[in-house]
Amino acid sequence: MPYTSPVAEFEFLMRHVVGYDRVAATDLFTEASPDIVHAILTEAGKMCDTILAPLNRAGDLAPARLENGVVRITPGFAEGYRAIADGGYIAMSADPEHGGLGLPMTVTTAVNEMIAGSCLAIQLNPLMTQGQIEALEHHASDAIKNLYLPRLTSGEWCGTMNLTEPQAGSDVGALRAKAEPNGDGTYAISGQKIYISWGDNDFSCNIVHLVLARLPDGPPGTKGISLFLVPKRIPDDAGNPGVANTLKVVSLEHKLGLHASPTCVMQYDGATGWLVGEAHGGMAAMFTMMNNARLGVGVQGIGVAEAAYQHALAYAVDRTQGRSMINGGTGTILDHADVRRMLMQMKAETFAARAMALDLAVSLDLARATDDAMQAARAAALTPICKAYGTETGIAVAQTGIQVHGGMGFIEETGAAQYLRDVRVTAIYEGTNGIQAMDLVGRKMMDGGAAILALLDDVAATAAAAGDAGAPLTQAVDAMRQTTTAMLALKMNDRFGGAVPYLMAMARVLGAGYHLRAAMADPARAALARFYITRLLPEAQAHMAQAICGGDGLYDLDPGDLAA
Ligand SMILES: Cc1cc2nc3c(=O)[nH]c(=O)nc-3n(C[C@H](O)[C@H](O)[C@H](O)COP(=O)(O)OP(=O)(O)OC[C@H]3O[C@@H](n4cnc5c(N)ncnc54)[C@H](O)[C@@H]3O)c2cc1C
Repeated sequence: MPYTSPVAEFEFLMRHVVGYDRVAATDLFTEASPDIVHAILTEAGKMCDTILAPLNRAGDLAPARLENGVVRITPGFAEGYRAIADGGYIAMSADPEHGGLGLPMTVTTAVNEMIAGSCLAIQLNPLMTQGQIEALEHHASDAIKNLYLPRLTSGEWCGTMNLTEPQAGSDVGALRAKAEPNGDGTYAISGQKIYISWGDNDFSCNIVHLVLARLPDGPPGTKGISLFLVPKRIPDDAGNPGVANTLKVVSLEHKLGLHASPTCVMQYDGATGWLVGEAHGGMAAMFTMMNNARLGVGVQGIGVAEAAYQHALAYAVDRTQGRSMINGGTGTILDHADVRRMLMQMKAETFAARAMALDLAVSLDLARATDDAMQAARAAALTPICKAYGTETGIAVAQTGIQVHGGMGFIEETGAAQYLRDVRVTAIYEGTNGIQAMDLVGRKMMDGGAAILALLDDVAATAAAAGDAGAPLTQAVDAMRQTTTAMLALKMNDRFGGAVPYLMAMARVLGAGYHLRAAMADPARAALARFYITRLLPEAQAHMAQAICGGDGLYDLDPGDLAA
């Protein structure tokens, strides 16, 4: 489906909204100057527009399938994957010592969004590998790093992450997969994992699974979980894929969308694995991977939002239906006030979510380049908001995109429905959005709310600088500070009862801040900022009111009442 990479938009945001110049000014990222970034984004954008976007519909129509134990991928996807790997886009932010490009996460984030916007199903593959590379860089032994990282960064081998089991979804600590020491430094991994994205394919010569399992002396719960590297084919002495490991794909899931991405049930039968990180330290290692992936999944939502917006706009400027009372209209549905409202909201939400993702990436880069603990805390607080708001934006924009199409939105040929079907899962995987919100009001408030209040201080400064235009935002920030204090005073389960509305209120407030900064830099952006501040920011008040209700009333209906 046609897609145009929003390269100029990324560059505007980097320059005027999220302060990318601070990243380029560090010693670590001195080579990632705006000129270099322009060249990288332009090249990546061309690949997305011309090679990946045409695969999107094909992937929906010809899903991955299991054939005699081998996963067969949609025709054309192997070539698409090769373009991503050969372009160096898998390992953009990986360590150059093992074949990475050492570029800032900000640049990777922009490229990941374009790849996701052009074809979400294919992008999930390199996203998994990126997370695995980061986990190995931080936690694996030198021997594992030297053997695996060059092959993962080049894209020769693909990576997966295996957490979920039938009884262990959000509660990873309930997992039952076992790891028995073989006595030679390796482990025998046994158990079943479900929903494993890209658990197999027919285009890479090896697949490296990171599997969470419990050692015989592992205590129950998350404290007893260890992380293992389990290759599909065990590398021989020369590092080439050797004998097949004792693992297999049992079946593929039939899904609402994302059809080209094989979602596998994996069976491990004493498969040979290597410990990554400390015994019983699997969750720490997994968190490295998950934080990377949470930003990545938020960005998936934003990519699809952009694609769905472009698609809906193209339809609206073409479709004639009814007459609007405005003067000098186009004669298409674009003239209707309600269609304008929908398109404005799609554009405004996509902008805010994208700015948030880049803002988070800049903080990650600054934390890495300067060891600045404040930036690390800022990134940690932004991560669950970005994951949830990015994916909710993807869903909301894709859903509105169907509405803009009218009946044609419900007809598969237009492709509008595919965006919604594909993006829906992003609010579920990598920790449901409910779990993200609980992370925000739980772990991320363990500092007494300091990181969140610091984020609000940033927004307050923007609102103050904007003068009269910033007044509604100043009020919203004050209300958000009070809501944060009120949340901190609640018992944990009460906080959880208000967690999702609290997160959405934060997203609204942050989003208004990004829009104002853009409007101050470029008056042509003031209209969209006004739209966001007058029509969407007021929703924050309703979210805050819900947030401080906490758990009140949520248990007033007992299970019998709910069924009545
Ligand atoms: C297409 C697809 C691809 C996936 N890819 C991968 C992959 O590559 N690797 C992998 O390991 N997993 C993968 N997953 C699994 C995914 O991460 C889980 O589905 C997700 O974490 C939710 O777990 P669950 O499905 O068991 O739902 P549950 O955990 O049963 O949740 C059901 C509902 O209860 C809520 N809930 C659960 N616990 C709590 C709690 N403590 N407090 C409040 N609410 C709660 C949830 O938010 C949700 O609304 C994938 C899933 C899908 C559908």
